[in-house]
Amino acid sequence: MVLATVGPGVRLGRLSLVCENDLVSSTELPRLEAVTDADREVIAAQLGRPPRALRAVAARCPSGHPSVVQTSPRLEDGTPFPTLYYLTCPKLSSMVGRLEASGLMREMTERLSTDEELAAAYLRTHEAYLAERDAIDPLGHRVSAGGMPGRVKCLHVHLGHTLACGPGVNPFGDETLALLRAEGWPSGDCAS
Ligand SMILES: [Zn+2]
Repeated sequence: MVLATVGPGVRLGRLSLVCENDLVSSTELPRLEAVTDADREVIAAQLGRPPRALRAVAARCPSGHPSVVQTSPRLEDGTPFPTLYYLTCPKLSSMVGRLEASGLMREMTERLSTDEELAAAYLRTHEAYLAERDAIDPLGHRVSAGGMPGRVKCLHVHLGHTLACGPGVNPFGDETLALLRAEGWPSGDCAS
C-alpha cells in the first residue's frame, strides 16, 4: 500500500532532480565530459560540419563515440540555441528518423490528453530541461525543446535528453530508447 501511495509519478519527479540538481555546476557532473580534440573531430564527422556551441559530451554509444553533446543556449554569435542536448550519433539519428516517420509522435501527443500521469511527468521534464538550461544561460523565455510540454515534436531531442540524464527524466525519451533497443541498437559501430 505504501508503494501505491508513492506511485511511479512521484518517483519520476524525484529522479528528474538528477538533472535539475546541477543548476550551478553542470559541467562538473560525472555524466558531462570535457570535449577533447578527438571528440570534436568525431562529432564534426558525425554532423558533417563543425560543431557549434559545444559545452560537453553528455553521452557516448557503447563503442565510445559521442552520442549526445550538451550545447550552450546561445551560439558563438549570440543566436539562441534552445536545444540543450543534441543527438550526434548518425546511426541513432537515422533510427529515430524512421520512428518519427511512422507517426509515433502523433500517437504520443494524443496520449498526453488522455493520460494525466504521463502529462504530469512530461511537464516535469519540461521544467527540468528549462531549469538546467537557464542555469547555464537564461534565454528569457519558457520554450524548451521537442514540443514540450504540450506536444511531442522531435524524438531526437527526447532521446538525447534521456541518454544525457538517464532513465526516469523524460518519458518519451525513455520510450524511444526502448524501441531502439527492441530494434537491436546498439549494433554496428555503436556497439561495444
Ligand atoms: Zn552511435
